[in-house]
Amino acid sequence: MALKLFNTLSRSVQEFAPLDSAGKKVGMYCCGPTVYDFAHIGNWRTFVFADLVRRTLEFSGYAVQHVMNITDIEDKIIKRVRENKTTLREFTGKFETAFLDDLKALGCREPHVKPHATEYIAEIIALIEKLIARGIAYQASDGSVYFSITKYQGCGCNYGQLLKLNFDGMRAGERVSADEYEKESVADFALWKARVPDDGDIFWPSPFGEGRPGWHIECSAMSMKVLGESFDLHLGGEDLKFPHHEDEIAQSEGATGKPFVKFWLHGAHLLVEGKKMSKSLGNFFTLRDLLAKGFTGREVRYLLLTAHYRETFNFTLDGLAGAKTALARIDECVGKLREIGRDALPRVQADPQVNPTNLLANFTAAISDDLNISAAWGVVFEWVRETNKRLADNSLSSTDAAANLAAWEKIDSVLGISVKTETEIPAEILALAEARTAAKQAKDFKRADAIRDELKSKGWVIEDSPKGIKLKKM
Ligand SMILES: [Zn+2]
Repeated sequence: MALKLFNTLSRSVQEFAPLDSAGKKVGMYCCGPTVYDFAHIGNWRTFVFADLVRRTLEFSGYAVQHVMNITDIEDKIIKRVRENKTTLREFTGKFETAFLDDLKALGCREPHVKPHATEYIAEIIALIEKLIARGIAYQASDGSVYFSITKYQGCGCNYGQLLKLNFDGMRAGERVSADEYEKESVADFALWKARVPDDGDIFWPSPFGEGRPGWHIECSAMSMKVLGESFDLHLGGEDLKFPHHEDEIAQSEGATGKPFVKFWLHGAHLLVEGKKMSKSLGNFFTLRDLLAKGFTGREVRYLLLTAHYRETFNFTLDGLAGAKTALARIDECVGKLREIGRDALPRVQADPQVNPTNLLANFTAAISDDLNISAAWGVVFEWVRETNKRLADNSLSSTDAAANLAAWEKIDSVLGISVKTETEIPAEILALAEARTAAKQAKDFKRADAIRDELKSKGWVIEDSPKGIKLKKM
């Protein structure tokens, strides 16, 4: 089934097709964290959304190259480094480690490439030189290099592709050096910021003088270096559409003359307890805050994945408690299937398509429809209900159970909530049980008994029954 996604560029749901002529490889870039503090739950909604996109692409058979930058040089970082009297690397390293730990706790697959802005200074400088050579960037009297929106438009390029900007209502022609600026002005923005006393020893030499890169140019330089001048997918939170993403497009297309990105995907905002998150309202949460309240990363992931990515989502602590209950229902069902399916040792490679609820087909239809996650969860819980019914009236054979499990595991490769039950059998124990069955079939009873003893020493009892073998934890 073809995957359809909402492309911010066309403002419509489009069938996804990568640039790769073989239709296999997909380059995907997600704007990563600025490592000056712990990421909050609003940030995490975007990263879990990016993980869902990647997993769905992989589920659909694409070979994804997932790139997420680490912004380790930026206005706020420099301010905090000075306040904390520390070094840039020590300060950003600490928050980067915390970010990656949290990413893991939320069950996100780690991006394949995590470029750091400070490691791409040469590429950033080369890109700025290209823009200067094309007459689109200029060095101002303050020593900084700016991107000229007027010159860019003069080259026949379109600024405002994502937002359909209404230039009449915006104050144009100003110039800003801040990494983030107000959204009401279409201002020339800094590509290279000349060194100022407040920067301390945080600067790099360049043909334009000592200084450091602006935030927007970092993403253009890193994404094009890793994924090429044109690539498939660029993701981020909707707050990044303007100016950050508009500026990324302008810098990249201004320098190469080629289309920068084929599909732009944006995740919607998050409210917490019905309000915009703020420290003063007491509804500002990092993942760590929620873990300290006794919730798990898995529960947070589940809750973040219950709403469609283009809808504003109201994140609540009650919702998290509900996530616990919903996950317990799935865990219980999958746990029972594992118990029954275990009888079908050696493992059954059943065709999930034959499972009577059409679990996999229905799930694929839902997730391929612009990641229709509520429909996808609907399919999962309908399956749980039906499976529980069949479990209750004992009408599920071990082969059926194994087929259902095989389908569930494919689905979970997208959802990433990996059910863990206490009775889960480690792969090593399964392998021993299978070796014992093989030894018995070869009439090597001495070896079969030795394996039984070995299993016992590892805490597992093996029982022979007319249906096959059964493993029980001692
Ligand atoms: Zn970016």
